[in-house]
Amino acid sequence: MLHDASTSSWPKVKALAQAGAVALLPVGSTEAHGPHLPLGVDVVIALEVCRRVAPLLPRDAVLFPPVTYSLTDFAAPFSGTVSLPADTARAQIQGVLEGIARGGFTHLAVVNHHLEPAHFRLVHEAAKAAAAATKARVVVPDHRRAPTGPKLGPEFMHGGSHAGQYETSLMLAAAPGLVDQAAMRALPALEVDLPGALKAGAKDFLQAGGPDAYFGAPAEASSAEGERLFSILVEATAASILEGL
Ligand SMILES: [Zn+2]
Repeated sequence: MLHDASTSSWPKVKALAQAGAVALLPVGSTEAHGPHLPLGVDVVIALEVCRRVAPLLPRDAVLFPPVTYSLTDFAAPFSGTVSLPADTARAQIQGVLEGIARGGFTHLAVVNHHLEPAHFRLVHEAAKAAAAATKARVVVPDHRRAPTGPKLGPEFMHGGSHAGQYETSLMLAAAPGLVDQAAMRALPALEVDLPGALKAGAKDFLQAGGPDAYFGAPAEASSAEGERLFSILVEATAASILEGL
């Protein structure tokens, strides 16, 4: 069963921690996601994965309020994006994890859906450091890796996972009211090899050839595809958490 930490009292959370509940920390960013999606896409997706994964766990789960700011250099040229320096972002996530562990939780999972490589790297680093400092187990399910990544489709693997068909479909499944569907349908597909462009020296989405902060094919998104993607993400996240229990 899923319990919400932010609406629970401390004695209730203490009892859950002592009973071995798993603490879930959703991690996203505040960054531009095309003209058809809100800035909080990564947070919405991370929260939804946590909600859907909880019933698959053999223990109670406690959902902590999400981390909503981090390093997001690629989207920095776009209004509303808030990028923290890497050291600040790493320290914030490490500090939150250590705070959760000091409250008695021995099993923590960081559910991250902001995919900028430098950010995902610092999430792994923060989790490692927090685990070492507290002796808690901190797992970081990483859906970019095989076998999960390839199952999420060619667009995901080629970098169109930023506000393209992949993320837009997830949003249509999780929070359709937050998708501007008229704007979505009007967007031409933008086939850019994002990892390739970044390797070639592009510093942000503009330089990589994404003037509207989206890549891939948002117009091809659907809620059915979003449901399919969520089931893959949730299964992989549950497997990773179960391994760590
Ligand atoms: Zn995103």
